[in-house]
Amino acid sequence: MDKPGGRAYVYEINGFKFDGGPTVITAPFMFDDLFSLAGKRREEYITFVPCDPYYRIFDHNGKSFNYNHDQRFIFDQIDQWNPADKEGYKKFMATTKDIFEKGFIELADKPFFSIMDMLKVAPDLIKLQSYLSVYQYVSQFIQNDFLRRTFSFHPLLVGGNPFDSPSIYAMIHYLEREWGIHYAMGGTGAIVNGLVKLFEELGGRLHLNAGVKEILIENQRAVGLILEDGKVIYSDEVVSNADVAFTYQKLIPAKYRKKYTDKKLSRMKYSMSLFVIYFGTKKRYLDSGLAHHNIILGERYKNLLNDIFNKKQLAEDFSLYLHMPTITDPSIAPEGHESFYVLSPVPHLGSGVDWTTAAKPYRDAIMQFLEDNYLPGLQENLVAEHYIDPIHFQNTLNSYLGSGFSFQPTLTQSAWFRPHNRAENFDNLYFTGAGTHPGAGLPGVLSSAKIVADLFEPVN
Ligand SMILES: Cc1cc2nc3c(=O)[nH]c(=O)nc-3n(C[C@H](O)[C@H](O)[C@H](O)COP(=O)(O)OP(=O)(O)OC[C@H]3O[C@@H](n4cnc5c(N)ncnc54)[C@H](O)[C@@H]3O)c2cc1C
Repeated sequence: MDKPGGRAYVYEINGFKFDGGPTVITAPFMFDDLFSLAGKRREEYITFVPCDPYYRIFDHNGKSFNYNHDQRFIFDQIDQWNPADKEGYKKFMATTKDIFEKGFIELADKPFFSIMDMLKVAPDLIKLQSYLSVYQYVSQFIQNDFLRRTFSFHPLLVGGNPFDSPSIYAMIHYLEREWGIHYAMGGTGAIVNGLVKLFEELGGRLHLNAGVKEILIENQRAVGLILEDGKVIYSDEVVSNADVAFTYQKLIPAKYRKKYTDKKLSRMKYSMSLFVIYFGTKKRYLDSGLAHHNIILGERYKNLLNDIFNKKQLAEDFSLYLHMPTITDPSIAPEGHESFYVLSPVPHLGSGVDWTTAAKPYRDAIMQFLEDNYLPGLQENLVAEHYIDPIHFQNTLNSYLGSGFSFQPTLTQSAWFRPHNRAENFDNLYFTGAGTHPGAGLPGVLSSAKIVADLFEPVN
């Protein structure tokens, strides 16, 4: 790639700066910790501001639910849907604290190398009902179907189906309530720039446009890399944050692989892919009733998710995440302009959908829907636009089957069952990023980096 960021790549088009991927910043303290490990202060590199509300979630009729850190405000919002669910919500929140303490504080930044590591935590996971899906877990406390959706969509943020992700992911709701949702001024790109600056100050050197063709293996040990231009780089350790399935399948010759054979990789479950349209308008939409982070749910929920994750069919209807960052930070667009991105979860390339022909009509349907329901006059006011589809995830980001978040976070693909942070059959090869433990999303990938850093011997 020509710029750092990976999924957090920034598209600069006609004076707009569009964050390509992550926009919802949870657990900002993890960035503080990372900078302080290097003896620096995060505030000197990145400015976070809180978002309020965290999200505005719309049902298919356009009625909305907002939430933030304030319990009274949430109760007021629940009253507008089903007053009886306030009690259940209180109980739900109380239990998510225990889940958070186990799932995040104890497990997220520890490696799972042996089955014993898994067995040790199994009783607690059973006690916390991890065998339930997030949707089932939430439904024990909340009766209203729309509210069930609003408190259980979180696995989608890390590539999971709320009907198939263990209830441990309900901790994301706790994480949000406790530490808020933040935005980095200048966009998520400002986080990327802050991290690159820190990396270079510490003596790191970043090589752009330098694709890796192969990881050099000698005696089941990673000893370096061969780049696409043929250059060979020898090293003591190799860390890959490229998609783990891609790393095994494409960067390590099959003859060396014992566990992650092509057959095993083809049998694993991968997260959904994404269709994302980045667009800018020459007018502002401050009176549109939208917030910074919007979730627009379609009428179908379970069946739509079933189409995406299980049947792998591209449905005609959709549920959308609509990002409108210029509400918080007008500096990322030309003056008087509004910047957006709209994201629709779609099946990964195992669906067989031909995106070379499907992308344009899919884009048109989403833009028309937004124009008809939320952004009047949208298409005549467009001055910048770019979209990506599952082919981008496969070909540009090198993700197996074009998945947006690597392996799907199911119970049998989490913790010890997920590819480990140190490769099973190769010494000196490590994994960070979405495809290893603990999983996708910025808090997950930061935790994976911490795990790997802790595995290295301290350098004197
Ligand atoms: C549209 C979108 C929205 C998201 N929103 C959120 C959000 O709001 N909040 C949140 O917390 N998370 C969000 N996520 C998830 C989060 O962005 C990812 O889980 C995280 O960024 C993944 O980091 P990573 O390092 O694993 O992968 P990446 O960021 O993809 O980094 C992998 C890097 O490896 C490089 N690479 C691949 N193959 C090679 C090769 N052969 N040689 C050299 N380099 C190679 C790639 O170019 C890339 O730069 C979102 C993801 C997407 C796609």
